[in-house]
Amino acid sequence: MSSPDKGIEKFIRSDLITLGGYSTHKSPDTLKSVPAEKIVKLDANENPYGCSPKVQKALSGYNRYNIYPDAGQNKLRKQLQTYTGIDAANIIAANGSGELLNDILYLLLEPGDEVINCIPTFDLYRLRTLINRGKLVNVLRNADDFSVNVSAVTTAITPKTKLIILTNPNNPTGNVISVGDIKELLDTGIPVLVDEAYYEFCGETVAPLIDKYHNLMVLRTLSKWAGLAGLRVGYGILPSQMVNYLLKIKLPYNVNVAVQVAVEESLKDMDYLQRNVKAIIAERERMTGELNKLQFLKVYPSRANFIFCAVLKGEAKQIQQELQDRGILVRYFDQLLVKNGIRFSVGKPEHTDSLIKALREIGNKT
Ligand SMILES: *Cc1c(COP(=O)(O)O)cnc(C)c1O
Repeated sequence: MSSPDKGIEKFIRSDLITLGGYSTHKSPDTLKSVPAEKIVKLDANENPYGCSPKVQKALSGYNRYNIYPDAGQNKLRKQLQTYTGIDAANIIAANGSGELLNDILYLLLEPGDEVINCIPTFDLYRLRTLINRGKLVNVLRNADDFSVNVSAVTTAITPKTKLIILTNPNNPTGNVISVGDIKELLDTGIPVLVDEAYYEFCGETVAPLIDKYHNLMVLRTLSKWAGLAGLRVGYGILPSQMVNYLLKIKLPYNVNVAVQVAVEESLKDMDYLQRNVKAIIAERERMTGELNKLQFLKVYPSRANFIFCAVLKGEAKQIQQELQDRGILVRYFDQLLVKNGIRFSVGKPEHTDSLIKALREIGNKT
């Protein structure tokens, strides 16, 4: 019946056939020139110090993988209440904060509803909006410092606007948005999602405003500060009504038992994890100074665990490739306002040293 050349594809949603996907970071195993253990991985903002050793210890002795996790995440949400100081009724966890973003869009969007996205920013917002049949309304940030153009955002609001997404600090640019600006957008009454994936490196949060604004949602993750990117766990701080609906629509066992153990152990080892966060922040400042000495880069101040630079001489794509040839992985960008930009995650001091040495060599040639 079906023509063999079309095959299964003719059954797939036409809007998804043409969708441009999410570009994930490079897996170290895919580099042929440099052995995996020698690779300096500064491309995905991962924690160079790893997770708490307590996590590994607890998981090696864990033997209840045959039992489903608690779908209501009750113990986990209580633990996150202790960590955040926010009531568990306002908290829900997910298999990475990206999953929660997706569930929020799934819950809010009718086909054609609009999501305001302040670009350049994290590409996942675009992708999940389109996959959930939303319409993306891109508002360009201010060119000089990547701050959010608040009046342009309010102007972009229409009767179809269901969500405004803000990232604080922003990825890939590292800058923060002020509480005043966030409040101005909250005052529009439109739901505002503030992605605080890098909160622990920045220290600024709007989470306590959850009691005052019925339209505020905050996304957090343990991928970065707690070094759990590979296990997948994020959470949201939201109006309790949103939490109840999200509990209803999410896949029941989305946060697995290994994650529940890992979060419990991580929160028992705060001194250790906070020491690592402090080391990363200190290294960010040192790295900013070192990068500033390179004439061919313009360095933007960062409040996260990565640093964004505009390439003034040469090409970001080529610099990325030359670093990769030396076993150093970074990300380059070519979207609006970040054309010829490059982002370096903050690693350990020795990673910075390798990066700076390589950048000097590359810079001397151009
Ligand atoms: C890394 C990152 C996240 C984390 O996503 P997870 O799915 O929790 O790993 C979320 N938002 C931004 C902006 C990020 O850079």
